Amino acid sequence: MTDATNDQLEPIFTRKGEASTARYTKIPLLEMLPETAYRIIKDETMLDGNARLNLATFVGTWMDDNAQRLYSDSFDKNMIDKDEYPATAAIEEYCWRILSDLWHAPDPDDVIGTSTIGSSEACMLGGLALKRRWQHARRAAGKDTEKPNLIMSSAVQVCWEKFCNYFDVEMRLIPTTDEHPLFDGTGLEDVVDENTIGVVVLMGVTYTGAYEPVEHIAKLLDGIQERTGLDIPIHVDGASGAMVAPFLQPHLPWDFRVDRVASINTSGHKYGLVYPGVGWIVWRNVASLPDDLVFRVSYLGGEMPTFALNFSRPGAQVLLQYYRFLRLGRAGYTAIQQTSQDVAKYLSAGVAELDAFELLTDGSDIPVFAWRLKPGHTDNWTLYHLSERLRVKGWLVPAYPLSGEQADQTVMRIVCRNGLSHDLAEDLLGDIRSETALLDSLQAPIPHPGMPPAFHH
Ligand SMILES: *Cc1c(COP(=O)(O)O)cnc(C)c1O
Repeated sequence: MTDATNDQLEPIFTRKGEASTARYTKIPLLEMLPETAYRIIKDETMLDGNARLNLATFVGTWMDDNAQRLYSDSFDKNMIDKDEYPATAAIEEYCWRILSDLWHAPDPDDVIGTSTIGSSEACMLGGLALKRRWQHARRAAGKDTEKPNLIMSSAVQVCWEKFCNYFDVEMRLIPTTDEHPLFDGTGLEDVVDENTIGVVVLMGVTYTGAYEPVEHIAKLLDGIQERTGLDIPIHVDGASGAMVAPFLQPHLPWDFRVDRVASINTSGHKYGLVYPGVGWIVWRNVASLPDDLVFRVSYLGGEMPTFALNFSRPGAQVLLQYYRFLRLGRAGYTAIQQTSQDVAKYLSAGVAELDAFELLTDGSDIPVFAWRLKPGHTDNWTLYHLSERLRVKGWLVPAYPLSGEQADQTVMRIVCRNGLSHDLAEDLLGDIRSETALLDSLQAPIPHPGMPPAFHH
């Protein structure tokens, strides 16, 4: 017996909601079948790029089946419910303690940290702690607290612009230039003053993957302190590099081994190897995080300190971070980051062999490298065209302008992550070669990508 009015029997793609437009910007009046709702959303997102071929992102796109299982076992847990989920709260603490150890915090009994939704939130917290510490010291000295400033390279990630904008701190940018493409402390002396709350140093510049020299910048600040008495702390934005350097450059002192480093953030979801939604910040010692920023939530009949911008937030990502730490250990993280770096170096060497290009970085800091067109190579095409050509092949490789005084230069960047195998890299290099040759064979300038020829004048 069939029932023609039962819409579960209607063939898929002909049902109500599937046979007509399915774009809702107002809530639909009536229910729809769950399969239909699922299919509408699933199908609409087919037009997204393939995450594994997204070489623009630093963020994790692959975890193993056990991680998937743990994820689906725990996506109902809210990180803020420390009293209800004390075991998850304890695991959060194990994680930031593991990080404080990886980053050489001097005293395991005097260290404090937290998980966040990502590095952006962690950077806000780091910046707020710097600002509050400076305010306390200024007030204690009977001085005004009207005009705090924070010093950083023009190559900072946008989260620092947000921090300065949202929390009323003057952003003092040291522009990158052709002579100093990497912030190395040059010009620092001219911009620090009594209102400087700190210096942000990038471990892994987003644009190029290069490490800024933390230890050298700290030494310059030591000199400034000797001459002026100003004691200016460093926050290391290690969104990517703080999960690479401990494994690939263990002897490079960029972390709490440098006395001036007050706090460090990282993105658990970048080279921490977790899916999007977790970041971390650790302070050198409890005194580096002013107590009046910390709130107390109830926990096992007592209270637990929290410092966060969000209230509710997924707890599952924190468990995934702990899974990665346990599953991989130091040896596993080292093997994964080394493999990503080997792929980055293989790719960058291949790009460097092509006449059209010159490298800015080769992937020897974090497994990320950037390149540009050799000056004078061509007026017919740009890296935006190459990016478009590679997209046709399925690869998402971004082209974008540099910062500071180099904002007129376009570069291209590849982020090598766990899951970009040597075989895939070989295919990618083949496509970069052939698409570059194709663009070079053109006899006249071509329109800017994204514009049909008719729009080009
Ligand atoms: C990615 C990144 C951020 C922002 O991190 P999210 O985890 O995406 O919020 C901040 N700083 C640097 C250097 C980054 O690379």
